[in-house]
Amino acid sequence: MSLNEELLHRRHASVGHGVATATPVFADRAENAEIWDVDGRRYIDFAGGIAVLNVGHRHPKVMAAVREQLDRFTHTAFQVMAYESYVELAERLNAIAPVGGPAKTVLFTTGAEATENAVKIARAATGRSAVIAFTGGFHGRTLLASAMTGKVAPYKQQFGPLPAEVYHAPFPSEETGVSLDESLRALAFLFAADVSPNHVAAIIVEPVQGEGGFHVASPAFLRALREICDRHGILLIADEVQTGFARTGHMFAVEHSGVAPDLIAIAKSLAGGFPLSAVVGRREIVDSVNPGGLGGTYGGSPIACAAALAVLDVIEEEQLVARANAIGERLRERIGSWGRRNGLLPISAPRGPGAMVAFDVLREGGAIEPDGAAAKAVTVRALEEGLVVLNCGATGGTIRILVPLTASLPIIDEGLDRLEAALALRADAK
Ligand code: PMP
Repeated sequence: MSLNEELLHRRHASVGHGVATATPVFADRAENAEIWDVDGRRYIDFAGGIAVLNVGHRHPKVMAAVREQLDRFTHTAFQVMAYESYVELAERLNAIAPVGGPAKTVLFTTGAEATENAVKIARAATGRSAVIAFTGGFHGRTLLASAMTGKVAPYKQQFGPLPAEVYHAPFPSEETGVSLDESLRALAFLFAADVSPNHVAAIIVEPVQGEGGFHVASPAFLRALREICDRHGILLIADEVQTGFARTGHMFAVEHSGVAPDLIAIAKSLAGGFPLSAVVGRREIVDSVNPGGLGGTYGGSPIACAAALAVLDVIEEEQLVARANAIGERLRERIGSWGRRNGLLPISAPRGPGAMVAFDVLREGGAIEPDGAAAKAVTVRALEEGLVVLNCGATGGTIRILVPLTASLPIIDEGLDRLEAALALRADAK
């Protein structure tokens, strides 16, 4: 029995199966865009720990900053005794967050905490309770975040009752087949039938849906949401947990639209692999919460803050915003050429801004809908080829690429070669 098989056996016997793992192998070590498993096999990493590793595994600057912090102190709880790195990180996030005015920041640990706390802040600021989110959206797995997530299975169906006053409108995109007009009409129906707009604290939206299938919120949609929010005194929350930190060819994806949200939820690539999240928002809005109402024992851990400050330096020094666009062009060019090739599974055109790129694996025989089973099979074959890549989307039919922005072009090409091999039609194909 290989070490991977032995560990898988122990994992199944000891870990609850509510937490699923996309691959049956166990990590031993990792460097930038490469991972080695415990049996010594090398993989190219196109998953980046689900959008966490925009600066790659173990970036030397991040490692050095963390090591230095380890030698000073690892935890005080910011609520017991504060430290400069938390304040410095808040200052730097305030300076770059496109919230349309002076900003303030509060740090947490996970993405779900960021989205939940954004809602807490919005409720405190408006004195209202309702929240509107979108179908296909993903905002985390805690109860309020699950309620906001726009997908029943596996995120909601076993866990009710979920918090009340969360409503969903259809997310407009070409792939979901919902037009902007239809989405806005549904929102108007919601206001007429279910909840008065002056009872709504916030609208939460991903500028590009991540788990939902890399569906881009058009600038016109985000502008319309901004206008609705302004008309009714509702706050606009951008969930940038997956899209943030240079991934889309801007520091934050919402910048593509020019729309300024009131609050931004961030996590994942903020700290390059260390657990850290934040809500950044307009100063007067964030300050509407009374002291003690926000926080958490580990929120803004000094180790994670040290990592995040280094991540922000690396993004700047290595010009990762521009690099995301260059990587994205390479990805789109190669994937675009596969759509016209015999001998490969049928796929859609690539989509997504910057290096947040995805494509659908389509049903064979001409139908254009994504095929979840085929896409899952592609990720399994990709792993056999030595590539870690994830699927996503309503039925799992989308292959998404979240390769570190620090990956070299030869490594990206090697990963694309492996993905192409995984798409090859084979005698053994399903
Ligand atoms: N929001 C978005 C857009 C996400 O992609 C995720 C994680 N996939 C979350 C929130 C939740 O983050 P976490 O898993 O860290 O709670």
